[in-house]
Amino acid sequence: MSPVPPDALRLDIIGAGPAFTDRPGATGAAYLVRHRGTAILLDLGQGSFPRLAGTIDPGTLDAILISHLHPDHFIDLVALRHFLRWGPRAPRRVRVFGPEGLGDRIDALHAEPGFSGAALDLEVLEPGLIEIGTVTIEVIPVTHAGRSFGFRLSTAGGRGLVYTGDCGRAEDLDALIRPGDVLLAEVSFGPGPVPADAAHLDGPAVGSLAARTGVGRVLLTHLLMGFDEGDTVASARTAYGGPVTLVQPGDTFVLD
Ligand SMILES: [Zn+2]
Ligand SMILES: [Zn+2]
Repeated sequence: MSPVPPDALRLDIIGAGPAFTDRPGATGAAYLVRHRGTAILLDLGQGSFPRLAGTIDPGTLDAILISHLHPDHFIDLVALRHFLRWGPRAPRRVRVFGPEGLGDRIDALHAEPGFSGAALDLEVLEPGLIEIGTVTIEVIPVTHAGRSFGFRLSTAGGRGLVYTGDCGRAEDLDALIRPGDVLLAEVSFGPGPVPADAAHLDGPAVGSLAARTGVGRVLLTHLLMGFDEGDTVASARTAYGGPVTLVQPGDTFVLD
């Protein structure tokens, strides 16, 4: 791989699966973003801890951002907590930003108050700006389940990365996206349509969002079982003429 330009974000797809799937290896949402010496993880869903630990020492993460309180986005914090408490170079701690109540959810799994706090420095996620090392993160609320958030990560001079989290209303993201950004978008219901009682996106909604905000590239993820990958990509291309890729675990993208 060619050298990463100094202001470019590097994105590693750790897990790109949805809540359930028949695709082996399609573990829960987890996206690693690095810039110079800063490492930030977006979500840590079911089964994604092993690939994370095979990619980076999880104890060196500067922060983890959890988009919302669905287990396909946070449940492997349990594995991370055990790793930090009992793994190599233990004990260590990592900052975790998440919706209010995240710590209680994890503690309840073990019926042990303080379980998460023994290794995770939990901070309540709110709309606004967070600075982590050399990366600025804009946080906005999105329509999904309770307190749910989308993120835009950027450096001083590089292209931004927008992550939808899970989102039931594409328009929520319009104000977050700048022209030329890379859009990492959930596309749970493939070519669509999204059932009326499901707060998710489909390919046509992502394509329209990408076209009207002028993003430079679309990365699709979080595709549910039963939808065709090619049809899903094609459905996003109907409205958007730029590059569209359905990401897989192990993929790496440099946002230059
Ligand atoms: Zn969700
Ligand atoms: Zn999800």
